[in-house]
Amino acid sequence: MQAKAAALPAASAPESTLARLAAYLAWPALVLSSASILAFGFGSGHPAGLSETLRKAWFFNLSYLWLLMWLLLLERRWPWRRAWQQSDGQLPADLAHTLLDKGTVQMTIIFLSGLPFFASRGDGLVGSLPLAVQVAIGLVSAEFGLYWAHRLSHEWPVFWRFHAVHHSVRRLWIANTGRFHFIDSNISVLASMPFMLATGISMDAMIWVSAITAYLGLLTHCNINMRGGWLSYVFNTPNLHRWHHSPNPAEGNSNYGQNLVIWDQVFGTWLHRPDRELGVIGIVERMPRRFLQQLLVPFRWARFQAESTKADPATLV
Ligand SMILES: [Zn+2]
Repeated sequence: MQAKAAALPAASAPESTLARLAAYLAWPALVLSSASILAFGFGSGHPAGLSETLRKAWFFNLSYLWLLMWLLLLERRWPWRRAWQQSDGQLPADLAHTLLDKGTVQMTIIFLSGLPFFASRGDGLVGSLPLAVQVAIGLVSAEFGLYWAHRLSHEWPVFWRFHAVHHSVRRLWIANTGRFHFIDSNISVLASMPFMLATGISMDAMIWVSAITAYLGLLTHCNINMRGGWLSYVFNTPNLHRWHHSPNPAEGNSNYGQNLVIWDQVFGTWLHRPDRELGVIGIVERMPRRFLQQLLVPFRWARFQAESTKADPATLV
């Protein structure tokens, strides 16, 4: 799984007060502006002629594109690590995993949402609470399943074979946000959705939970010079998530939360080291370079590791 690698002392690059302020404000500004677009969509009658569901979906897509556009721009102009702007040849695999992943996860969500046990959502006591409270309940409850699915995918060797596809990257940027083996992602959804659905929150609250998950997911991998500040005590900021990609178990076996770090705080796996600089990221095992081989490698893990040790060019590491 993961091996020891020493963290480097923090670099002391000079930084203007304005740049420092911008680094602290970027994350909340991007999240709040994206959420504001969706909030406008909830209260707006536009575009006319669309059903309520389609209108919310339209505004969600608009808010997602808004965030994506800013992240692409800022990654070019304001990188956290300039070396991560160099191509690793994994873009086709990253995008193929993202598409397969999103497609199968959507099917799993539709299947789970249709189960009779969850059919009365939004009708009970929790469904009558203010929307913001329902969203908080949805986030915390889903996060419990996400936390344990993610933690076990690091601690159980069989699960790690699937999760290693995500961790095999040697740089973080928005294109590899969705690079997960589809079995890994569906395990996470199966582990988290029932907790959220069982709370009885309304459909609107679920849309908000999904939107926040989408926004924060894009942000966690971005290669932008942001600072989490006190937000890293609550949310899974890029600063926290980069430590999670360290090959050093003392650093990488931490910050398992997807949106919130509440369960990392509770179970003692929260790691925040603004005083240190992250070293290299990745895994110590081998990983095929091509998408189809990456899908198959968990099923022939030991043999691939043995074979690829003799043939370095075919592997990522
Ligand atoms: Zn992980």
